[in-house]
Amino acid sequence: MDAGPLNVDALRRDFPILHQTVDNRPLVYLDNAASSQKPRQVIDAITRYYLHDHANVHRGVHELARRATEAYEGSRERIARWINAPDAREVVWTRGTSEALNLVAHSIGQARVESGDEIVISEMEHHSNLVPWQLLAARTGARLRYLRLTDDGRLDLDALAGLLGSRTRVVSLPHVSNALGTVNPVREIGALVREESDAVFVVDGAQGAPHLRVDVQSLGCDFYAFSGHKMCGPTGMGALWGRRALFDEMPPWQGGGEMIERVTPQRSSWAEVPHKFEAGTPNVAGAVGMGAAADYLDAVGFEALHRHEQALTRTAIEGLSAISGIRILGPTDPRDRAGVVPFVVRRTDAQDLATMLDAQGIAVRAGHHCAQLVVDRYGVSATVRASFYLYNTNEEVRRLVDGVRRAVRILR
Ligand code: PMP
Repeated sequence: MDAGPLNVDALRRDFPILHQTVDNRPLVYLDNAASSQKPRQVIDAITRYYLHDHANVHRGVHELARRATEAYEGSRERIARWINAPDAREVVWTRGTSEALNLVAHSIGQARVESGDEIVISEMEHHSNLVPWQLLAARTGARLRYLRLTDDGRLDLDALAGLLGSRTRVVSLPHVSNALGTVNPVREIGALVREESDAVFVVDGAQGAPHLRVDVQSLGCDFYAFSGHKMCGPTGMGALWGRRALFDEMPPWQGGGEMIERVTPQRSSWAEVPHKFEAGTPNVAGAVGMGAAADYLDAVGFEALHRHEQALTRTAIEGLSAISGIRILGPTDPRDRAGVVPFVVRRTDAQDLATMLDAQGIAVRAGHHCAQLVVDRYGVSATVRASFYLYNTNEEVRRLVDGVRRAVRILR
């Protein structure tokens, strides 16, 4: 059945934070690529957990320990179903995408990467999918190779086969670019990686999971990392999905309670995955919030969400394009973007522009968006980035366009 349009007015009632003024103007929150807001349903699930069910997980025999463990492991199963993972034990809880990618780089690095091996990433990376691989390369003597960007903000896939070979151990790429909004054809990339190499294929899903239905089996990747706080869930919480056989092969990366099977004075053995990668008392409330966020997004419906974001993106691109001296980065067709519109305006500083928008109650971000190579590639030092989510309206996008026009007039 085809989903109808989103009832945005009703959805907005779920987000108390949106109903406030900034400098006497209604808040327009367009910084969703940095972090999304949280609906009452997620906040209530976390509150309920702390009010009624909290204890440490796994170890206890008492009622609250049992309930907390059920909540924690139940959310893992919920997230596994949400991304169509074949087995909930393939979902490792992390602090977020950054920690998930550091875990993979560190641990797969130790298991598989040697001097002279190659790691393929791209110019599109968020620093979270770049610096961990740089650290691994420095540690092992492996070489980083970069997939370039095209002028219209896409990965240059024609060049990918040329980067793959017998020394390629890892290919790690984003599902969706946080700095350009580009949605990458992950399935096709995965097929090519498998055809041309034995590399492990890692996907940075920080901007994918909040906006697109993720099916890790059909994407054909080996790891998929994402964060709760960009998908209506809590901060400090994320997940790493990975193939069981790879997780089994990988050594732990942090030691402590929960991750051991047996400890002796000189050596220890490890618990089964996922616990092998979850040292210490975990973020149980965070897991509960992740599960509630997945429920919330399912109730909204990804198809309707995606169409809504594309409509907002189209309105933004059309409106902003009429402003003289503006340059919008990324794919021209809104269908190739996930609700992210980065732009620069000639003779106008991005930070000043964002500050003037803030004075009109409009929250956007200015800077390199933790993707220094992207701004370098397009010859700018910073962009202004507007990014949309399910609760944004056409009216808000029009306020953005008017706000930019007004700010540019004053700044020039
Ligand atoms: N990758 C991408 C594409 C991102 O947008 C972000 C967050 N801006 C990250 C990784 C890192 O996510 P987190 O800060 O939640 O760890």
